[in-house]
Amino acid sequence: MPTPSYRRTKIIATLGPATESEKDLARLLQAGVDVVRLNMAHAKHDWTREVIRRIREISARAGHEVAIMMDIKGPEIRTGDLTAPIELRVGEIFDFTIKPGAERGSAEEIRSVDVNYRNLINDIKVGDTVLVDNGLIRLEVREKHDAHIRCRVLNPGTLGSRRHINLPGVKINLPSFTEKDRGDTIVGIEEGVDFIALSFVREAADITQLRGFLKEHKSRARVVAKIEDQTAIANLDEIIRATDVLMVARGDLGIEVPFQDLPVIQRRAVRTCLAVGRPVIIATHMLESMITQPMPTRAEITDVANAVYEQADCVMLSGETTVGQYPFECVRVLDTISRRVEEELAIDFPEPAVFIDERMKFMRSAVVMANEFPGSRIVTFTRRGLNAAGLSAHRPARAPILALTDSLQTLRQLRIVRSVEPYFIGPFGDPEKTLTRALDKLRDAGRIKTGDKLVIISDVLTTNNERVDSIQLRTVG
Ligand code: PEP
Repeated sequence: MPTPSYRRTKIIATLGPATESEKDLARLLQAGVDVVRLNMAHAKHDWTREVIRRIREISARAGHEVAIMMDIKGPEIRTGDLTAPIELRVGEIFDFTIKPGAERGSAEEIRSVDVNYRNLINDIKVGDTVLVDNGLIRLEVREKHDAHIRCRVLNPGTLGSRRHINLPGVKINLPSFTEKDRGDTIVGIEEGVDFIALSFVREAADITQLRGFLKEHKSRARVVAKIEDQTAIANLDEIIRATDVLMVARGDLGIEVPFQDLPVIQRRAVRTCLAVGRPVIIATHMLESMITQPMPTRAEITDVANAVYEQADCVMLSGETTVGQYPFECVRVLDTISRRVEEELAIDFPEPAVFIDERMKFMRSAVVMANEFPGSRIVTFTRRGLNAAGLSAHRPARAPILALTDSLQTLRQLRIVRSVEPYFIGPFGDPEKTLTRALDKLRDAGRIKTGDKLVIISDVLTTNNERVDSIQLRTVG
């Protein structure tokens, strides 16, 4: 079977020292990246503005607009600065200080580190687990005092400065959208990013708050909700309904929940997203070994394939493209695995989902028709991306969704949606003339040729000059 001419699963790459230069960004785009992610946990504002402008410039030069996702870090608890790393031993008693400089009673010989969250004492209880540095160091809370929390080390390790703390199952009372997030988001809005990804979303209200902020600042950026702790999992359904896009952020999630639950949660999240028509991203550790090795492990190949079989919209690279030695190879590996698995799915494809919404039933009919004509393409017109996303939600078996839009921002935001290939055609006008323009554009782009069957979703004008929805089957002449 020949390699399909397009990939349905989209690729997100996080930008960092390994990929931020003009030359490397151009290579990333060429390798097939659809969305570039900026991780604000590590980014300064000057750098952020500079790289956003660089991405736009390179996209324009390549004639291929990629989307930009700004990932804001949300509430985060970290340890403070240390003059030298501390070697923590199993069984050692260790303090997390919440009131730096305060007396710690008679136990001054007990080693300690500051924590940046003063209210921790009210959220945590004796018996809770404290995980430090990506879950590598594990401690158990033994005692709570006004100024410090006394723990016992269960898993040893070297504690460095400003390490991330995870507290599995503990409901943290930090605001979801922090002062730092506001400052970062303003920069994103000013530079016109396409997506804002909110870390540690715990409930639908967190998304509503960010939406309000975006609206207040007249931004059309779409919201990506990152689920990364147990509270998010408890509220998963309402989060999926409230967000524009969901990210299964397996890095933190894999620390916050028992590891055996991670694949179960991933599957449930993807299925729920598919059932309500929300794009979903599978993130973190997809090709972790390729940070230092040119080839993926067998387990990584299977993990990526699993995300494609589950029919997620996107797979995401983090460390692989920020600091990895083989960033472009990673994109090619994702591309190759996706195309291969998509061939299999095209043979044994699931029935399109059933939605109760009238518009979605209409979209389903178009997808069912396309599935009946092997080699057909779906052509749609979309201003805000809703038509294209609605078609994608039904997961067409083989047909690409060629989406014509009059908005560059919509074009970029559709980069995240499975099976959609967006094209810009400027303002829409008379339906038939717009269709002719669209077909010329698709022919020039090499996406349709004489004899191809097209399932076209567009308005048509009645003799009374009324616009009505139509699904048409046409053959390219
Ligand atoms: C994650 O935890 O998987 C994730 C994507 O978030 P971050 O990279 O910000 O930790």
